[in-house]
Amino acid sequence: MIPESHPRYESLLLREKIVKAFKKGILADSGMIAHGRGEAFDYLLGEKTSNPAKSAIKAGAAAILLSKNPVFSVNGNTAALVAEEMVELCRISGGKLEINLFHRTPQRVNAIEHVLKHAGAEKVLGLDDEKLKYLEGIESPRATASASGIYDADVILVPLEDGDRAEILHKTGKIVITIDLNPLSRTSQMSSISIVDNIVRVLPLLIQEINQLKREKKENLQQILDNFDNQKNLKESLHVFKLKK
Ligand code: ATP
Repeated sequence: MIPESHPRYESLLLREKIVKAFKKGILADSGMIAHGRGEAFDYLLGEKTSNPAKSAIKAGAAAILLSKNPVFSVNGNTAALVAEEMVELCRISGGKLEINLFHRTPQRVNAIEHVLKHAGAEKVLGLDDEKLKYLEGIESPRATASASGIYDADVILVPLEDGDRAEILHKTGKIVITIDLNPLSRTSQMSSISIVDNIVRVLPLLIQEINQLKREKKENLQQILDNFDNQKNLKESLHVFKLKK
């Protein structure tokens, strides 16, 4: 039991969730290492959502609202930390959930499907009995996508994606929104909208932003999207990291 007075209380709670998810087979062992890398960046961010991250969240919300077929990708870390919020995101935007794993095994796909259904998901794409298609004709397990989900999507949210797959997704010409605490990762650099923040803080803010922007005219949403410059935003994110005491 972690005492609430502990200075790293929130961070340790998340770590506990991640370890539990690993023990239940939701997360691959490398998912724990990825979380550790994220923790280090979050420490340097002061564990707060920065202004550049808020701008990226707003642009992401506009892109999702403008989309004809938004798809939200779920991996082990995402399922372990924000399953309910991903389901809520689908509900308010009419988007789809797709399981998308780097270390794909039938057991992990089942475990994540169970977590999402338990969180209220009605339909989950990317299951093993589906015939997955290859993005950009690249016959690699890194390029698979469900036909009515990521393959057909115009906007995809891929939190904590790996660089190789982000590169493939980038080539498809879709709007790729990522959530990654590392502004220098290949994923952040390759995406159309990179939200440099912890996924546990981003999802509630993204949901709030979509609810707020829902009533905006399409032209206004398009303007928010057009005014967003990802490379500029990534540079601003880099400046937020506190490297001095
Ligand atoms: P890339 O392949 O994109 O260059 P990488 O090799 O660091 O990056 P992975 O280890 O596959 O990528 O993915 C982990 C990424 O997810 C890291 O950049 C890490 O900072 C980030 N990350 C981990 N936990 C979180 C979290 N809770 N919220 C946001 N980002 C996170």
